[in-house]
Amino acid sequence: NARLRLQFTLTRFGNNEHLMLVRDVTRLHLLEQMRKDFVANVSHELRTPLTVISGYLETLLAHSDSLEPRWLKPLQRMEQQSERMKHLLEDLLLLAKLEATAHSANAQPVAVAPLLQLIRRDAQSLSADKAHQIELEADPLLWLKGSEAELRSAFSNLVFNAVKYTPAGGHIQIRWWGDEHGAHLSVRDDGIGIEPRHLPRLTERFYRVDSSRASHTGGTGLGLAIVKHVLLRHQGRLDVESAPGEGSRFSCHFPPHQLAEPGMPACDTRE
Ligand code: ADP
Repeated sequence: NARLRLQFTLTRFGNNEHLMLVRDVTRLHLLEQMRKDFVANVSHELRTPLTVISGYLETLLAHSDSLEPRWLKPLQRMEQQSERMKHLLEDLLLLAKLEATAHSANAQPVAVAPLLQLIRRDAQSLSADKAHQIELEADPLLWLKGSEAELRSAFSNLVFNAVKYTPAGGHIQIRWWGDEHGAHLSVRDDGIGIEPRHLPRLTERFYRVDSSRASHTGGTGLGLAIVKHVLLRHQGRLDVESAPGEGSRFSCHFPPHQLAEPGMPACDTRE
């Protein structure tokens, strides 16, 4: 009892001639919905057993004094891997949620500058032993309409990626500014960069430039897919510029009608 879904394509040729193609995409749409539901259900079902496994591992490691020393390393590896799987499931569930609806149900004015300050702080602790320099310049009067949780997760993915793919001592620059075209966030790093042939596929799920290297960075391969979906829901667009060995710049652009009136007294967040 699915609703009929039709896709219309209008092509103009010659001076006054038009061709309209009508395609029945009901079945395609149904299959796509089944895929989304399947991924969401599997992720949800895997969460409970994983929580139990992590719980037992945590208990065992808390009593590591009474364990045979040769068990310690394997148990620590198991704990690391179950943490990784937890992040993967969280990202899969978030993506499923983002795909389920076109807009955030609870859109509200979001103060982006303080959000970026929090992300910067978290990124700095992520890079503790790599000692990156993370600069932030953000216009405190520039607010967005949207979901704070979704924007936080998209912007953190971009900033954490900059840390992950930039060697020790690198520079990361985060800028949030506005102009007549709307509001813009750019996250720039002088890290390893990306070859041009990979750029069009970066926001695909599980697409990784170098999967052997990426698995060591602790990422899930879903970060940029999440960024793309969050931006779509906020009428935003993602641009990537990058050169291998020189670094990358990921920019998010939001149109003027996505801006919100600042709701609180602003404070300067330039650092
Ligand atoms: P991951 O969890 O692997 O980081 P993402 O979806 O966030 O997944 O990113 C996809 C791929 O894009 C990464 O595996 C990496 O190869 C590349 N990438 C993302 N951000 C950067 C960056 N700032 N510098 C270099 N490569 C990047």
